[in-house]
Amino acid sequence: MLPSLTGQSPDALAAWLEQAGQPAFRAKQILDWIWKKQVTSIDAMTNLPAALRETLATSFRLSSLEHTHTQGSEDTTRKFLFKLHDGRYVESVLIPANPALYGESSDRRTLCVSSQVGCAYGCKFCASGLAGFTRNLDASEIAGQVLAAEQIGGDRVDSLVFMGMGEPLANLDNLLEAIALITGPETLHLGARHLTISTSGLVPQIRKLAQHPQQIRLAISLHGATDEVRSKIMPVNNKWPVNELFDALNDWNARKKQHLTLEYILIKDVNDSLEQAAILAKRARAIRAKVNLIPYNTVEGLDWIRPSDTRCQAFRKVLRDAGITANLRLEKGHDIDAACGQLRLKQETEEGIISAPAR
Ligand code: SF4
Repeated sequence: MLPSLTGQSPDALAAWLEQAGQPAFRAKQILDWIWKKQVTSIDAMTNLPAALRETLATSFRLSSLEHTHTQGSEDTTRKFLFKLHDGRYVESVLIPANPALYGESSDRRTLCVSSQVGCAYGCKFCASGLAGFTRNLDASEIAGQVLAAEQIGGDRVDSLVFMGMGEPLANLDNLLEAIALITGPETLHLGARHLTISTSGLVPQIRKLAQHPQQIRLAISLHGATDEVRSKIMPVNNKWPVNELFDALNDWNARKKQHLTLEYILIKDVNDSLEQAAILAKRARAIRAKVNLIPYNTVEGLDWIRPSDTRCQAFRKVLRDAGITANLRLEKGHDIDAACGQLRLKQETEEGIISAPAR
């Protein structure tokens, strides 16, 4: 399988061109075609000599993803399914601006990006974990989702959340390589502060990422304020319990400017007690984090239930009364299986790549 051009850093491309006996300025031309003009074929790079285009075409694929399906419509959440070179699938979700946060007229767009095929972390509410872990995505497959979403949508993506399929911090090296492509001035050039990495709480990687020079944001899938409750939902908590996680988050705060976010899916009778809310408020205050509350979305094959709206609001009130910024998230994409991993799970089950999950 040929390497993909979208996976080439400016330095790697310059080195390849030098070896091919090409002048250095060709690197900028090629990068412009890929990332700024966003062409879909090497042949469309019309200011390159035909012979160079030919050599490029025999040495590289242009893209590492093939867009096979879109679910949703232009003015709502849209989910893109991409086929990878090995026949596996990943998905990205393009989410229009939340008018409550940005105003009715805002056209800001956030892309939820996948980092692995499947996931080994098995969070109990999540479709991605259901079929287990297959492999890490490489940098071109991660950054390529953003490029493809812009090509399909015909418009810039304003911010990214690494919250799709996979645990991004379990694929940290490739993720950082992808982030270099996404933020680089010669490539996609999206500001690092518009990128949020969401993790289930991998403590050593959080400490490592805290030392990364870019001001990337971090969100933690917490979903339980005590070990007893969190371990029921997040098996990763058995390895890195809540206190250890919060020590690492303190370390993060000491090095980073942006506030942390705690994600908390509200599940009826599992983690929605007002006692949990009070403990969560204390923990959030200790690390100056804001809290996103997300009422549970039904996942086919799982039997947890969404709490009533009254309970969700009461939970948020405990946090707000304690002075914590707490959003009760507007639902996006409920009708198109927006929970991460569901579309890919359906596709791969239909094709017989994986068998239907039995939970
Ligand atoms: S929530 Fe994230 S870390 Fe947990 S199983 Fe799903 S993809 Fe993996």
